[in-house]
Amino acid sequence: MKLTRRNFLAWAGLSAMGAVACDVFEDELKVQSPVALPEDLVKGKENWYATLCRTCPNSEGVVVRVIEGRAKKIQGNPNYPTNLGAQSARCDLGLQQLYHPDRLSNPLRLNGAKASGRFDSITWSRALAEVSKELESRDGSVAMISPPMRGHSAVIADEFIKAFGGKRIEFESLDLRTYRAAIKNVFGQDIQPHYDIGNAEYVLSFGADFLSTWVSPTQWEVGYGEFRDSDHSHRGIMTHVDSRFSVTASNADRWIPIAPGQEGKLALSIAYVIIEEGLYPSDVDINGLTSGQGLNALAGYSPENIGSQLGTPDNVLGSHSVSELIRTVAREFASHSPAIAIGGGTAGASTNGLFNLESIYLLNHLVGSVGKEGGVVFNPEPPIKGLKGYSNSHTLADIEELVNDIKASKIKMLFVYNANPVYGAPDWAGLEQVLNSNDLYMVNIGSFVNETNHYADMILPDRNYIEDWGNDVPEPAAGYQTIGVQQPIVNPLSDMDPRSSSDVLLSLAQDLGKDGNMPWKSLEDALKGMSDELFNLNRGSVSGSTKQEFWTNLLRQGGWWDKSVVGRDQSNINGLISKITDKDKEPNLSGNGDFYLVPFLHNSLLDGRNGDIPWAQGTPDPITSVAWQTWIEINDKVAVERGIREGDVIEVKSGASSITGIAFVSPAQPPSVISIPLGQGRTKGSAYATDRLDGESANVLNIIENNKIDGTEGLAWAATTVSITNTGESLRIAKFEGDYESREVGFTEGEELIKTTSPGDHDH
Ligand code: SF4
Repeated sequence: MKLTRRNFLAWAGLSAMGAVACDVFEDELKVQSPVALPEDLVKGKENWYATLCRTCPNSEGVVVRVIEGRAKKIQGNPNYPTNLGAQSARCDLGLQQLYHPDRLSNPLRLNGAKASGRFDSITWSRALAEVSKELESRDGSVAMISPPMRGHSAVIADEFIKAFGGKRIEFESLDLRTYRAAIKNVFGQDIQPHYDIGNAEYVLSFGADFLSTWVSPTQWEVGYGEFRDSDHSHRGIMTHVDSRFSVTASNADRWIPIAPGQEGKLALSIAYVIIEEGLYPSDVDINGLTSGQGLNALAGYSPENIGSQLGTPDNVLGSHSVSELIRTVAREFASHSPAIAIGGGTAGASTNGLFNLESIYLLNHLVGSVGKEGGVVFNPEPPIKGLKGYSNSHTLADIEELVNDIKASKIKMLFVYNANPVYGAPDWAGLEQVLNSNDLYMVNIGSFVNETNHYADMILPDRNYIEDWGNDVPEPAAGYQTIGVQQPIVNPLSDMDPRSSSDVLLSLAQDLGKDGNMPWKSLEDALKGMSDELFNLNRGSVSGSTKQEFWTNLLRQGGWWDKSVVGRDQSNINGLISKITDKDKEPNLSGNGDFYLVPFLHNSLLDGRNGDIPWAQGTPDPITSVAWQTWIEINDKVAVERGIREGDVIEVKSGASSITGIAFVSPAQPPSVISIPLGQGRTKGSAYATDRLDGESANVLNIIENNKIDGTEGLAWAATTVSITNTGESLRIAKFEGDYESREVGFTEGEELIKTTSPGDHDH
């Protein structure tokens, strides 16, 4: 029988007499009655409101379904330019953050020694009075750590910190500094470009898991869907080069495993073939790119010279050589126009990461896809003066400088704003030690207990994005001017008293007369001012006969965009190839282990920021299907040699430290690589983040060695080598697929790449 509200209530009546036939519903039905209906059965009117999601850094447009004042569902906003209604497994996390039982409800003041974990709940007026007093006495020595920020929240945070004479560091564990530098050097842009995958014929990607976690995955998944067009009238071809079998690798037509740090050499070897064989379009300025040297500019990068240096395992090549593979890829890439080359992730995370990424993005100039449909599409500056269209992306080197400033008492007060750098920075950065100092007063703004606010003097609970105002200039946008708008859709629950963090900073600045560059009463006020400026432009996607009507329509639509204002190519290609080859150096590795360590962002936990959310913990990884644990990806043949079986607890050791996790044995893992997801190993937070058995949860950031990227000082997080040891312990791995054993098949040359598995082959 179909379960309808009517027959549900009929069953509920029966249940009172103990006559319910269906065990599944028995418990539920006993507690239900027409006078105490569950919320989902209230016959309320539903409303959908547009806003901006803040769960991933790319902050996309969503619509939220509200019934009787409660948010029930989050979906992609079909109108929003970057995701066009698409969403990912992460989208529903917003609801679990909103209604999480462990969410901080009131300001908390340290009561006892630092890191004692003893906090008193206090009122906002007492909390703000104390913070204000500390700010006044420590004026000129105030700093802030936040994630990358854009829109008016970023403007307010920057002006606040400037007013008190300090600096704001935008920190993320796997920073994008090197990617930004490569885009600037190759295309002359500060703002990240968009990759028009939907109109491309060929995608050649290196290291960037752009269909899962890299930069703007939802936007590029939409493009990928068009690229693979289901009616087969248009089906692009994709080759992915990566040290790990990622989600993007699994969607490619061809995956080329490579040793971390060799991606640039491969890209320049592809460039060599394109120039040598004259495969470039007639309007490409080869003379300019090579400073008139032609192929000599790439002497030494012929496939025959480079092939043996890439670390590509022989078994993926069949009877072909690596040099033949390079020539094949170069010819395919150059003959399918428009074609895009994309690089990021591991490809930019060795000590020579800047060289690698510049070499990769150079390929776009060689095939004439820069600033063209189906190629690299640039984004314009935002239409509002002062509303910055890109974030700063500082690096771990900035955190190390801050640590030194705290030690030298140059910084005496620290705001940590929705960030968890104690978890997100390797131990050797020394942040945790200086936060424990009594000379430093730390204010933490956030929603959950974590490893950083464990050292706070004051914790101020923030509003969830569904309860708060905000705006964003998406980076990357879809190639035209876009501003997203966030509005409060529900009120906090009656027992919660969070405040908008931007409003808290504004009120502190106003209280101390330091709000000269912040002429707004509140964040809402700043957004209304922006709306009036957009109204005066008299263009774009929102209309209204009055400013008030325009504001209402802006909120209704979830943002403003104008397809007629696009970015433009500002590349200076003269001598570009020699500027890149001058940077060519072998990657520095440290750790003295037998394997490259390749960490990667977890598909739902990302860098650990979502660890408190059960939905994020329980969402199976798309490649391994593992949930809740730290798994260690090991090649199947290596596992046999080392006597390792799936579920064994493995110690992974670098020079810096060691961690343990559970072996996941895979034929798709390159033999020289150990891959480990970020996101677990939390020590402070909700039970969902921290309650784990010994050996099954670890923070891979703690074993990354202190290597920096030449030219950017970004963390070279793919420049560590590790050794592995079987601890002799074994745990059940929490995965959704059955037990499988792999075996090779293949009847023709090249098919050795393909492996299949059969249920029941596995004996443990
Ligand atoms: S993919 Fe991320 S940013 Fe986009 S809507 Fe979902 S949770 Fe939000």
